[in-house]
Amino acid sequence: IIQLYVPLNWFGTYYRAIQKNFVDMENMFDLMRVDSDVQDLPGAPELLVRRGAVEFRNVSFGYGPERLVLKCVNFKIAPGTTVALVGPSGAGKSTIMRLLFRFYDVNEGAVLVDGQDVRTVTQASLRANIGVVPQDTVLFNNTVRYNIQYGRLEASTADVISAAKNADIHDRILTFPDAYDTQVGERGLRLSGGEKQRIAIARTILKDPAIVLLDEATSALDTHTERNIQAALGKVCVNRTTLIIAHRLSTIIHADEILVLKEGEIVERGNHETLLRQEGVYASMWQQQLENRNDNGQHIDKSGAN
Ligand code: ATP
Repeated sequence: IIQLYVPLNWFGTYYRAIQKNFVDMENMFDLMRVDSDVQDLPGAPELLVRRGAVEFRNVSFGYGPERLVLKCVNFKIAPGTTVALVGPSGAGKSTIMRLLFRFYDVNEGAVLVDGQDVRTVTQASLRANIGVVPQDTVLFNNTVRYNIQYGRLEASTADVISAAKNADIHDRILTFPDAYDTQVGERGLRLSGGEKQRIAIARTILKDPAIVLLDEATSALDTHTERNIQAALGKVCVNRTTLIIAHRLSTIIHADEILVLKEGEIVERGNHETLLRQEGVYASMWQQQLENRNDNGQHIDKSGAN
């Protein structure tokens, strides 16, 4: 990430629009491994977002011809509701997010936003309507203010502060040497993972997209930080269509639907209560996390439920 960061920032000074795509990709998907040759169709219209309904319809996808990573995946996220993805490492959770962002095109089936196939609209309009809160936010070598304002460059200072308050980071920013004018990033004040994530949440609140993708941090956070982040995440999801990759199952007990992925297939689905009653994969993951919590006196994920 450090190696990437300097050239990206330099590049971005000249090509802000390109930088935006790059940084979003980098944040979430590890730029070095994204070799996207997705192109807009000639004369493609912009995505018309009405309420932000998302649908994966019979989606199959592989990064190469030798192996399918997703097999006939079907789900819908109703506008303003939350769907959570859980399952072991390599199950295909991040791939689902990449397909919604259209870094790749599906082999079979379709990804739809408000009924429009993402292949038929411009990538810029698709991505303008999707906010991403990645696991590890890379900050620009710039001020805290810029890092939040990046969500909507024309936003007023009052809006930046309001977003920071909603993301539960305003009071913390006031303790920095130059408050909102403090330089952060590799060459400035180094922020903790939790602080960076709250900056990303503030940025997303300011961007105000209809759809939000959240990739919960895997690292164990102290209980206080975790509570702050949960509160901030709660605010960013309100009234938005949300897809979350959850590592701590306690985060998603209120999700409208939980999809349990295994080797590219949805093996269980339902809300928390329903899945516990099924006594299947989800119920045993939940049991495992409870045991880990009891052993450690705090919530540390060792269950592989990531
Ligand atoms: P984790 O919880 O570890 O992030 P995940 O459920 O998000 O895992 P994905 O990242 O979606 O899993 O990966 C699904 C499968 O696709 C894995 O087997 C992975 O090795 C493979 N894969 C991921 N990215 C690529 C890529 N760029 N090229 C080829 N294969 C890939």
